[in-house]
Parts: sequence; structure tokens; C-alpha cells
Amino acid sequence: RLSLRGVTRRFGPVAALDGVTLHVAPGEFLALLGGSGSGKSTLLRVIAGFEAPDSGTVQLDGADLFGVPPHRRPVNMMFQSYALFPHMSVAANIAYGLKREGLPRAEITARVAQAIAMLRLEGMETRKPHALSGGQRQRVALARALVKRPRLLLLDEPLGALDANLRERTGFELRAIQRESGAAFVMVTHDQAEALALADRVAVMDRGRIVQAGPPREVYDRPSTRFIATFLGAAN
Ligand code: ATP
Ligand code: MG
Repeated sequence: RLSLRGVTRRFGPVAALDGVTLHVAPGEFLALLGGSGSGKSTLLRVIAGFEAPDSGTVQLDGADLFGVPPHRRPVNMMFQSYALFPHMSVAANIAYGLKREGLPRAEITARVAQAIAMLRLEGMETRKPHALSGGQRQRVALARALVKRPRLLLLDEPLGALDANLRERTGFELRAIQRESGAAFVMVTHDQAEALALADRVAVMDRGRIVQAGPPREVYDRPSTRFIATFLGAAN
């Protein structure tokens, strides 16, 4: 169980996170919604450990993550920009985190093959990222994030580069992968329908705060503020 309490992160005058309290249960799929600049990526970066909060706590199963470096957290993150290594092949990109963990070679090979099959990247193992389409790159980034079998996976707009068709299909696949892995997923999305279709719970952010969190139907049918009603309405 992930618990954030009163998490604040400022950049100069901007409060990117302004007292965020949020709990994510094991195996839960949470969709994070909110306008551009509302703090979604910053929230993921704080959970992953790439950004330290100015105040507040981040705990996983009751253990404080303060000072624990990103690669020591049972958390993995797929970045909005994918952050693939341009000089490495698809397979090497996917294997990178596992090598760093010092897993045996055979285990690494098996896991990479499994991730490649799962994300339908067969035949692309030796290609470099520049020789892939945007959607393929996105799937490599997803494979790289999943291959470490994190207990918590943070996904920043993981489907943004896909066309509507592929996006819907990959969304459902993502949900299936999530169920199968038993990991909790926190996924940033701009797509309301996607959040409604995939998530157990949605949280809506505005100016560094979580303004509402609950089951998707509840948030859509009974937005707690005019802002949320307008935000959800405008984006539909
Ligand atoms: P988007 O939907 O556009 O990706 P977001 O909700 O992910 O937006 P964040 O990237 O978390 O938004 O940014 C929240 C606020 O914090 C913004 O005002 C942003 O400009 C600011 N911010 C984020 N990172 C930094 C940084 N490293 N330095 C200065 N300001 C930052
Ligand atoms: Mg962002």
C-alpha cells in the first residue's frame, strides 16, 4: 500500500504539489487526471524518488521512502518522454534495469523475451529506437517498465503516442497486464473515457492538489466541485 500524506513540492513560487494526500492499494489501477501543469508528473516523480518532497511523507507498506534512491524502490516509472537510450537496441533498452539489478543472464534473457512477446515487439529486438514508430517506442518503454516486475508502476501518459484504435486496444492490454502482474498502477491520462474504462479509481488534480478521488462513475456522476464538472465536461 502506497501512502502519501501532505506532500508538498515547490519550484520557486510554484507549488507543483500542495499538500497531496493519496493512498493506493495493492493491485489497484488508479488513473490520474488533471490539466497541464496541475502536478501529475511531479507527483509520479516524487513517488518514484526522482524528486524529493519539501514536506510530507511517502510510505510503502508503512516504510518511509525518504532518502531511498529510485532504483532501490519497488517502484518503476514509465516517463512521458519514454527516455529510451538511443544508442541501445530494443532488447538492451528493455534489459537495462535488470542488468543493473545484477540478475543472472538466463533470467534476464527470459524476462526480456516475455516482455517482448507481451508487447508484440517480436522481430524488433536489434533495432535502435530511431528506427521505430512512436507507438513502438512507447511499447518498448512500457516493456522496460514492466520487466522489473515492480509492485507499483507509474505511467505518465503511456498511450499518448498511439492512434485511437491502438490506444484503446493497448489500454485494455495494459489493464490485463496489470491484473496478471498483481502490481498497482498509477497512470496519468488526458483521456476521460480511458480512465473510466480502465481504472478502479480516478484522482483529479488541480494546481498541485487532489481535488477529488473515487471510483470513476462517482467522480463523473457526482463531481464534488464546479471545477471538476467543468474539467470533465470540457475534456469530453
Ligand atoms: P502536463 O499534463 O502538461 O504533463 P503535469 O500535470 O504533469 O502537466 P508537472 O509537470 O507536474 O505538470 O508540473 C507542475 C508545475 O510544476 C508546472 O507549473 C511546472 O512548470 C512546474 N515544474 C515542474 N517541474 C519543474 C522543474 N523542474 N522546475 C521548475 N518548475 C517545474
Ligand atoms: Mg506531465
